[in-house]
Amino acid sequence: MRYDPTNNNLRNLIIGAEQKVPLSDGKEVTAINFDNAATTPILYSVLKEINQFAPWYSSVHRGAGYKSKVSSDIYEQGREVVQSFVNSDKEKDIVIFTKNTTESINMLSFILSQQKYHQKVILSTSMEHAANDLPWRDKFKVDYVEIDKQGRLSIEDLEDKLIRYRGSVKLVSVTGASNVTGYLNPIHKIAALAHKYDAKILVDGAQLVPHTTVDMKAFDTVEHIDYLAFSSHKMYAPFGSGVLIGPKDDFMETNPFLQGGGAIRLVTPGRVQWDEPAGKEEAGTPNIMGVVALTAAIKTLQSVGMDTIYKLEKALYDYAISHMKNIPDIKFYSDPFKGDTISVIPFNLLGIHHDILPLILSGEAGIAVRNGFFCTHPYCERLLGLSENDTLQKYEEDDALFPGMVRVSFGFYNNYKEIDRFINIQNIIAEDKEYYLSKYSKVLSLTQINKEVGRCTNRTNFGC
Ligand code: PLP
Repeated sequence: MRYDPTNNNLRNLIIGAEQKVPLSDGKEVTAINFDNAATTPILYSVLKEINQFAPWYSSVHRGAGYKSKVSSDIYEQGREVVQSFVNSDKEKDIVIFTKNTTESINMLSFILSQQKYHQKVILSTSMEHAANDLPWRDKFKVDYVEIDKQGRLSIEDLEDKLIRYRGSVKLVSVTGASNVTGYLNPIHKIAALAHKYDAKILVDGAQLVPHTTVDMKAFDTVEHIDYLAFSSHKMYAPFGSGVLIGPKDDFMETNPFLQGGGAIRLVTPGRVQWDEPAGKEEAGTPNIMGVVALTAAIKTLQSVGMDTIYKLEKALYDYAISHMKNIPDIKFYSDPFKGDTISVIPFNLLGIHHDILPLILSGEAGIAVRNGFFCTHPYCERLLGLSENDTLQKYEEDDALFPGMVRVSFGFYNNYKEIDRFINIQNIIAEDKEYYLSKYSKVLSLTQINKEVGRCTNRTNFGC
């Protein structure tokens, strides 16, 4: 197969790919979604599977009726589909269904905080989403692996820190791919280093699993990934499910993250006998629709092929970069010309605030992008060249429009024609910034007024 997104038939797999949206002049155009890193649209196959399953929908693990048995079986089979997708060990690992990556990492931090080992340091990195930073802060000593000038993770600094903490590092907790720069981290190299110094590794797979092949590798290899977390809504499956994978043994002796029905074997007034993991970590009625959606999405992604998806998205990325770089006053915040990335591009059109450009792109061309700090504040500060003090000061300045960036992120169903529309409108904006600024600043000030009267407490879009 040629990786040519010009005639991308895979678009037919997506619901709403041809949906029209209104522009500021009332005309309608086909919407362009360049915000796939936030949430992807829905696959037809996912809704088809949901519809086919709907007549069988019933309580999971809670009923003796036939439908309940069908629902429970499908839910359990979902774990196997997930394990095959990322090559997790079916004997030693468990798949815990959560509501998203954020919950998965919060759960893991809670579980690991109960272990009585001497290792109390978590090595996170300076490029993490808040979901893979904050859950560690209140339970462990956290240190952050450095990034270089381009924002890439410093493997040298990782090893320095592993040596400096001399066996006290419990976990290296790293994103598989950055939601800001798209940089892919060498997770297996990082795993080998972590294991060399007796630490384990968690990969935040929110931006990795939907875009390329992920292989957790065998337990007895140094490159093995100990824990993996990801979200269904970023891989074409809505209904609010997520995944945490890790060794069953780690969940045996600990108290569960959530307590309640489904997590228990026996409760007396004085005693609780917990269920076996994974059930022990899934208190409350399980989200069967979320699991049906996720497994359907995985099957479709597998049939397209994860390598094909990676290559298609990379072709879109290269095409976009090669044209964006000629737009006057464009500033990139990643190095698009070196190293591995998924298709995420952070940039600004100098002279147009990051809160305003998305309004223009939407109002003039029906293009959806994201802006702000993308829930990845320390990393964005660094990429923008701000110190912590600068950031705090700007935050305190009432009338300051807070700094930030604009982000485009592609899915395998996007095509070159959409990128052409995006480049074209940006060239037009760049030529007459005054006009677009005055037109859309009014929209922005209305938004600000709405915020001030209480609809939102943020002055500007912090991207979270
Ligand atoms: N990690 C990364 C790298 C992300 O990009 C995101 C969301 O954008 C998350 C974690 C959190 O994902 P969720 O909101 O699905 O929990």
